[in-house]
Amino acid sequence: MQRLKGQAALITGASSGIGQAIAIGMAKEGAAVGINYASSSDGAKETLKEVEKQGGEGIIIQADVSDPESVQQMFDQFLERFGTIDILVANAGIQKDAAFLEMSYDDWQKVISINLSGQFLCAQRAAKEFVQRGVVKGRSKAAGKIICMSSVHDVIPWAGHANYATAKGGINMLMKTMAQELAQHKIRVNALSPGAVKTRINEDVWKDEEQKEELLKLIPYKRLGEPGDIADAAVWLASDESDYVHGHTLYVDGGMLQYPGFIGNG
Ligand code: BGC
Repeated sequence: MQRLKGQAALITGASSGIGQAIAIGMAKEGAAVGINYASSSDGAKETLKEVEKQGGEGIIIQADVSDPESVQQMFDQFLERFGTIDILVANAGIQKDAAFLEMSYDDWQKVISINLSGQFLCAQRAAKEFVQRGVVKGRSKAAGKIICMSSVHDVIPWAGHANYATAKGGINMLMKTMAQELAQHKIRVNALSPGAVKTRINEDVWKDEEQKEELLKLIPYKRLGEPGDIADAAVWLASDESDYVHGHTLYVDGGMLQYPGFIGNG
């Protein structure tokens, strides 16, 4: 039984890492997928190749999620190909790290516009389609599902990453407010908050043995996350198995949130 059979899912930032794994995971469960990328067309092609290997169907769409016109065009392309949308995974995100005293306004602005405003733009456009189409019997119990990619840093402050942590903290309230407002239309909204998952965004840390050891001290479960760990959770959140889960943040973090500094301490 494929859990997303007959549904169409748009995944932003699907040319690598978590987004790529989610696109492949959703295709495996029967969804047709929109593979959005901003700059790595090679990565997007790799995602599509894997999707097709699973017997799935996909379309590659270049777009900058922080640009309203680009988002509009992405949805136009997606809707033209698949007719409608059932699932949005607002995943695209970047890091531009700097100490607070040194952070440029440009780097502040860039991260906020992609990681926070980008999710607003994509979620609003998807929600408009969900509202005008409504529930399709036999496809899914909800009229549409929105999954916001957040982070453990929606609650853990992160020195040297004020822009990133602020954007993720904002995602928490955006998600909850959308959940409160859109439930009347049978739109289900949730967030996924990964901990330290091995992707390009943090490879400078996990590829360095010493830094990796330090990072593992923050993870009670004593392993780094894999993109597939997040994809499994995303598939579940998008499926009818979680139909009564709404306005929730699912932390997939090996226990990073459980005050690891207190192990053998305090
Ligand atoms: C960041 C990673 C980091 C992880 C845990 C994520 O949101 O993108 O770089 O390893 O949080 O700190």
